[in-house]
Amino acid sequence: SVKYTYLFGKKTDGDAKMRNLLGGKGANLAEMARIGLPVPPGFTITTEVCAYFYANGKKYPTALAASVKEGVASVEKQMGKLFGDASDPLLFSVRSGARESMPGMMDTILNLGLNDQTVEGLAAKTSNPRFAYDCYRRFIQMYGDVVMGVQARTEAETEPFHEVMEGLKKEVGAVLDTDLDVENLKELVSRYKALIKERTGKQFPQDVYEQLWGAIGAVFDSWMNERAIIYRQKYGIPADWGTAVNVQTMVFGNKGETSATGVAFTRDPANGENVFYGEYLINAQGEDVVAGVRTPHKIAMLSKEMPKAYKELLAIRSKLERHFRDMQDFEFTIEENKLYMLQTRNGKRTGLSAVRIAVEMNKERLMDEKTAVGKIPAESISSLLVPVFDPAAVKKAKPIAKGLNAGPGAATGKVVFSAAMAELENSKGSKTILCREETSPEDLRGMIASEGILTSRGGVSSHAALVARQMGKVCVCGASSIHVDYAKHLMSVGDIVVKEGDYISIDGTTGEIFLGEIPTVDSEVVRVLNGKMKPAKSYTYQLFETVMKWADKYRKLGIRTNADSPAQAKSALLLGAEGIGLCRTEHMFFEGDRIDSMRRMILASDTAERKAALAELLPYQRSDFEGIFKAMDGHPVTIRLLDPPLHEFLPHDSAARNALAEKLGVSSEFVAERCNALKEQNPMLGHRGCRLGNSYPEITEMQARAIFEAVAKVMKGRKPVKVMPEVMVPLVGFVQELKFQVAIIHRVAAEVMKEKGVKFSYMVGTMIEIPRGAITADEIAEVADFFSFGTNDLTQTGLGMSRDDSGSFLGKYKELDILAKNPFASIDQAGIGQLVKIGVEKGRGVKPKLKIGVCGEHGGDPESIRFFNDVGLNYVSCSPPRVPVARLAAAQAAI
Ligand code: PEP
Ligand code: MG
Repeated sequence: SVKYTYLFGKKTDGDAKMRNLLGGKGANLAEMARIGLPVPPGFTITTEVCAYFYANGKKYPTALAASVKEGVASVEKQMGKLFGDASDPLLFSVRSGARESMPGMMDTILNLGLNDQTVEGLAAKTSNPRFAYDCYRRFIQMYGDVVMGVQARTEAETEPFHEVMEGLKKEVGAVLDTDLDVENLKELVSRYKALIKERTGKQFPQDVYEQLWGAIGAVFDSWMNERAIIYRQKYGIPADWGTAVNVQTMVFGNKGETSATGVAFTRDPANGENVFYGEYLINAQGEDVVAGVRTPHKIAMLSKEMPKAYKELLAIRSKLERHFRDMQDFEFTIEENKLYMLQTRNGKRTGLSAVRIAVEMNKERLMDEKTAVGKIPAESISSLLVPVFDPAAVKKAKPIAKGLNAGPGAATGKVVFSAAMAELENSKGSKTILCREETSPEDLRGMIASEGILTSRGGVSSHAALVARQMGKVCVCGASSIHVDYAKHLMSVGDIVVKEGDYISIDGTTGEIFLGEIPTVDSEVVRVLNGKMKPAKSYTYQLFETVMKWADKYRKLGIRTNADSPAQAKSALLLGAEGIGLCRTEHMFFEGDRIDSMRRMILASDTAERKAALAELLPYQRSDFEGIFKAMDGHPVTIRLLDPPLHEFLPHDSAARNALAEKLGVSSEFVAERCNALKEQNPMLGHRGCRLGNSYPEITEMQARAIFEAVAKVMKGRKPVKVMPEVMVPLVGFVQELKFQVAIIHRVAAEVMKEKGVKFSYMVGTMIEIPRGAITADEIAEVADFFSFGTNDLTQTGLGMSRDDSGSFLGKYKELDILAKNPFASIDQAGIGQLVKIGVEKGRGVKPKLKIGVCGEHGGDPESIRFFNDVGLNYVSCSPPRVPVARLAAAQAAI
């Protein structure tokens, strides 16, 4: 029969490998119990129950009830206490735990098992009635909110339990929550119950099993709450994974001055340094630390406040790292000087710390090179390359406050105080800094839309900090001198007032906050690469270099770049590109006044006129290519012939058209007429790509000549440069289209060799970017020296989805789970990917050694790179800044 619950504690059924079934939290609780760490006993209800719950109209499998009872009985035996016992009650926490952690997105209930009788038992047993009633009122509040749905009904309304408490505090003259005495708390309990009755028409349940099932149901329900859904969309977590539910014996960090609760990391999650890092609150319960309500103490303080527990924590820190062989993020509670472990997981970290931890753990022999490579999310390497504030500008800037450096990097933007405002500004193209007292998961949308996040309360493990780190957002938190006034849409520090829409700048590496915009400058790594800093001076650079060396050692894919200018080519080379995979020649026509010749060419009324205009363009193109060949210094360069529809080069408004007419010495009517004639209903499927070169062969001829004359020139120059040109024909669907183009290119190459008296080698290949090209790749391979998949157009034409217009429905499609990801960013493996696969197989069926690459945007996306590796491409080509990401992703794909 199916097992629905797994025990952990003295008897443990699960282990760390069972995270799909038990969720991350459940699996690791079991593992910690196995290795002898002090874990309060409990049991985990599996993710399969969650799947069943949603597949069966929110009902449970029939056998679950008995299984939960057994779980409770086992814990009762271990603890020597009974659930619901009026004299000495066993209490539980009920928490979610998915396969991947989703911090703060789902619901949790603490102190479960308290009712009007058991609270008295707890009070008597602990000789601490105040403590017992504090637990009870917290439980009713959480249960009322999470399970019974007593929540603020409008954005303006404050949280109703909070309001009741504040009301009572006012009546009795209490300032802090802790000023409330037992009698006050008893009163609070009865007011809370009344509130629940008034809002829901139901009584707060006194039956402890009813409480337990209510909590279990609420946790399963929370898998489908809005913020969890948004989170899953952002991180590509499938909805059918489901969450597990962990029912665990409560331990109390709020039993007075010998109790505490905290969160710690085995290394610094912000910069990766090998130091014990964390924070705690004395006399507090778990959620107080994470919620960022009180600002906690740094973990080092604990060595003074509770030396014994601190020593134990240090031992656990190293035991965890040696066992899990990764940086751990764990939660602990100290109950009357006794330490308990409540959770551990691989810690979320910034890009920088991911790199540093992997490199240092390899040095410490905690992981081998291949493991270390796999531990660094490919994306994170780019955070070592992001700009920082210009130091000169920072010196002049006005610092207004300082907070905790929770997410490194430099961000500047308009101040916004709400997620909605952040999204609105973002949609208008403005950069924003989301400023909040503290953030909650409700702010997720706004955090995604902002450049940076600033909070006035909360510590480095507060929700804001955690989420920002994971998103790679700049974050400063707990800047306590800042006063945020949501109602007035402003914040202030002393007499400085910052209004919504004003600019500020925040440095997530130092925690500093400045007024106004501050320009950013290159990172250390980029400065070293540019020769502006010595490698020995930058530890960050050394980390970068180590990881890139590893990447190059293990990867099979070549890494090229998409570059249209010598400057781009140079920067890509510095970042490790091995060639140019796509040089889009049309970009060159927009520089200086060459657009005039281009327009003259387009507006030509006959071949002779067109040839004359092309002759004007030839020298420009030739010198562009010379520059690129020189910059690439012998590395292969793939040059694509003209691709876009011609009307893209023409002016769009009548004033510009008139000016053009004057320049060309023709009538405005003529220009207007030609522009109209070139207009297309569906230009992406119109007169573009090789269709241009086939209807106007003289264009191909000119471009081929420019390429080969440039080759001849740099070969014979004073400082001869080796050149490996690859001429690429776009948008081929029929082999005959390619044949015509290839014939022209070969003829021109022979002419140039003869004229210049040189011999050079070159290749002529094609893009595979429309489905017919992929499907007839065997025929095409007969005439092509190489293929390069243009996955942008292949996706566009294969899905019949415009690359430029799909924004209007892609969001909805992701919401509806029709698409897991944007197919223009990460390749649709089951569809477009299969076209790539067919193209590779058919092409290599004819020419087994056919060189094949990809130059669509997908060439820089780690998941797509894995796919391209697996189908046997020779290289990927991506934008220059993504080159290091692609190198690392390619290594990960090959390992
Ligand atoms: C492509 O279609 O994938 C491609 C690289 O070409 P472009 O983006 O210029 O259409
Ligand atoms: Mg294309």
